[in-house]
Amino acid sequence: MRSTELDAALAAVEDACRVCRYVQSRLDALRSMTKDDSSPVTIGDFASQALVARALTSSGAMLGGMVAEESAAFLKHPDHAAHLRGCVEALRESGAWTDAAADDVIDMVDLGAADPGVLVSHRGGWTLDPIDGTKGFLRGEQYCVCLAKIREGRVEIGVLGCPNLALGLNGEQGDDPLGLGTRYWATRGGGAHMGAYTKTAGVEMAIRRRPVTPDHPARLAESVEMTHTRRDLTEEIMRRAGPVGTPAQIDSQCKYALLARGDADVYLRLPSRKGYVQQIWDHAPGVLIAQEAGCVVTDVLGRELDFGRGRGLEGNLGVLGAPPGLHGRLLAAAKGVLDSAA
Ligand code: AMP
Ligand code: MG
Repeated sequence: MRSTELDAALAAVEDACRVCRYVQSRLDALRSMTKDDSSPVTIGDFASQALVARALTSSGAMLGGMVAEESAAFLKHPDHAAHLRGCVEALRESGAWTDAAADDVIDMVDLGAADPGVLVSHRGGWTLDPIDGTKGFLRGEQYCVCLAKIREGRVEIGVLGCPNLALGLNGEQGDDPLGLGTRYWATRGGGAHMGAYTKTAGVEMAIRRRPVTPDHPARLAESVEMTHTRRDLTEEIMRRAGPVGTPAQIDSQCKYALLARGDADVYLRLPSRKGYVQQIWDHAPGVLIAQEAGCVVTDVLGRELDFGRGRGLEGNLGVLGAPPGLHGRLLAAAKGVLDSAA
């Protein structure tokens, strides 16, 4: 039986995906309306965040509050009136919130400003990345809406809405030009699942990975953006851990979805600059989904990811996810590579 909170989270992410699809289909129109190249993602981010807050509130599942990536301060600034107008229009035109009004949208976005202390409380709260993979979104490629419930510092529910990710990996990006994409969810101890948004497919299934054999060429899921990770060190770690397959390059937490469903074997992220702190909403749902699908996910030093430190993963260095066995070999390889790079 699904929990009410999981249903609320799935519905909230589905709403958000609806407006994101609409905005991504109108990139050029929105750019010319605001005279700002990256405005579509700004408009999509705020619209998505407002919808998730609205859905969680109306279903009574807001818990202690939501810690989200975006702050309404930008939208409130008089210089950004065109962005606010674009956001309200997108919400209405997409059908996601047909009677949206500017003040209500701002109020909903503001609900994402909860104190991260709620995430270590007994009641718990939510963390949201309204559009993860903003660069993919602007390229017309992969991105996802990422929502997780965190309680006492641990992720308990994770949902990823991936509007462009097909059920099968057809082509490098796995784009889904005809469909509405796929979604992934997990509850702690309840397993991982995936389903299609495409109405006609109606597919919904549990996903469970087996350990991979040591001779299996390990397929890395890596960022499209070269600056987001240390690719040189990553390649060296992969090489030392065993045979290497062709990497899958894909933006956003869609990488965790590929890992969970077996279209990739490794998630490996190393900070590209010293002191870079990863954000909780960039990992929380994806990590739980991969773990519940049977993968081990830690930081690159083998430590559990600590989602109770605030908005950032301050206590961790990078992320390493893989099926058991392969994870152990990668961890040993990472130790050697990081020691010699230090
Ligand atoms: P990905 O496609 O996995 O690189 O995911 C995009 C995420 O990368 C964004 O949500 C950012 O928070 C994050 N990001 C942005 N800049 C960096 C950076 N220099 N190093 C690591 N991650 C970054
Ligand atoms: Mg992000």
